[in-house]
Amino acid sequence: MRSRLPRGACAPALLAILEIACARGPGAPGPARAPQSLARAESTFALARDARDRFEVTVASGRSSSADGIPLGELAARANGFRDRLQAALASVDSSSLAGEDARALGVMRLVLGRDLSPVTLPDSARPQTNPKAGADCSADSALEIDSLRARIYACYGQAQSHLAVGTDTLDRLTILGLLGSTDDADRRRRLFLALQPVWRTMNGYRRLIALTVRTHATDSAASAQARAAGVPPDSLQPWLLAVLRAWRDASPDTLVEPWDWFYRNGRASRALSPRIPLARLAPLDAEVFRSLGADVRTLRVHFDLEPRDGKDPVAFTTFGARAPVIEPWIFTAYRTGGLDNLNELLHETGHAVHLAAIRTRPAFRDWPDSDPFTEAVADVVALDVYEPVWQQRWLGDSVPLADGLRGRYGGIVLDMTWALFEARMLRDPSSDPNEVWTGLTSEYLRIRPHPELSWWAMRGQLVDAPGYMMNYAAGALLIAAIRDRIRERHGPFTAGDSTWYGWVAPRLYRFGLERSTRDVVEEFLGGPVTPQALLRDLARMRPPSR
Ligand SMILES: [Zn+2]
Repeated sequence: MRSRLPRGACAPALLAILEIACARGPGAPGPARAPQSLARAESTFALARDARDRFEVTVASGRSSSADGIPLGELAARANGFRDRLQAALASVDSSSLAGEDARALGVMRLVLGRDLSPVTLPDSARPQTNPKAGADCSADSALEIDSLRARIYACYGQAQSHLAVGTDTLDRLTILGLLGSTDDADRRRRLFLALQPVWRTMNGYRRLIALTVRTHATDSAASAQARAAGVPPDSLQPWLLAVLRAWRDASPDTLVEPWDWFYRNGRASRALSPRIPLARLAPLDAEVFRSLGADVRTLRVHFDLEPRDGKDPVAFTTFGARAPVIEPWIFTAYRTGGLDNLNELLHETGHAVHLAAIRTRPAFRDWPDSDPFTEAVADVVALDVYEPVWQQRWLGDSVPLADGLRGRYGGIVLDMTWALFEARMLRDPSSDPNEVWTGLTSEYLRIRPHPELSWWAMRGQLVDAPGYMMNYAAGALLIAAIRDRIRERHGPFTAGDSTWYGWVAPRLYRFGLERSTRDVVEEFLGGPVTPQALLRDLARMRPPSR
């Protein structure tokens, strides 16, 4: 059906009448007018990506067979078999016979074949109950090439952050950060904070990594391209982040706070409301919230793998677990406790999942959009509501004052923005002392007491694993405020639930995959370019400070 519509016919303004025509289900045949060789290649592409997805989520879940009982070895063989067929099918397509969207589809498939579909082998980590990171040498700081240096730091980081000794307990990084927000005893907060030191030490090689990154990759321009793709002009981004940080500072008490007290000061909403969210309630509550918005995670085939496990990726993530005939999103996290912060993260990951589940486009374009800040932003549309008193009353039966909610909402965001500026400054001048850079930023804008002897910036895996990625969270925060504002303006409030919300948002923001550029999607949705105004307005609701 799609191929008979002119390019651009699925513009949001027309979606009200064309929704069904545009929202062609995954698995429908390829474009009727494309040459047969392209259609054949595209259906093989759908099978190859699907086989790869199923292999990868099985490995990530630490199991020896898939959810439907297929052994890992067979999943690997299938992934490789379809990959070989795809390679042959793509080679048989005469690219000179294609134009427009078909030519672009061929380009995407060739790119994905080379970039994402290299042959798979059974990794050691695929064996259940083993820890692939246990073997990394985390004591040496020997000269290494950039890729092995990155891999070693990240492996050591992963190992350290999941095994932190606090007294007689062994805790993980996220649990400690959660406890920093909830522990009333200031001495214990300090001890908890300092228990993170083994994590910080794993990033001793960061400065060298940054120097190698600058020398060998154009990371800064890659990050800029990501922001530009979301309609955020990279030249404006840093001044905008500084404007946001200044607004935060203006709305904050005029006293310095210790770094171990920062999380506590912003954690009032979490402290008051977390007791209402035990671990066992996390997943059901997450599902109920999305159901109230018209997104039923079971119908949408969202899979949840939420339990901690040795060797599990330290960063929560959502990915495609299947792509044909229908998309099945998988969420991986590692929760030892419930609470508002973990609920917020789970709602964020589920935001990614319902986004993926709403993608309706031809197989070549069935992928994440071309902009990570956009991807992060739309994942937060629902998650950010946990800080609104109306939402808290509905789902938790209690609420905190708005200013405390907003400190909870923006405490993490301004810290992410500070990390983004930190990374930008390190990339600009790799000879800088990271402790000094971090201390300067956090004391000036967040009013955190300087501790240049502590490397407490060194606890985001993304700094190592994905240089430039922190800027995506920052650009995403500007975007999300703009998008949330616009949804309320065009469709109405949804904080207390709205069963028509998902059906309205999905065709306008979620369905495109790589079919349209994110910039087009965003600017059409917002009715113009992104600005920081929506976020600054939201932040202004925080004043005057509640205490
Ligand atoms: Zn995310």
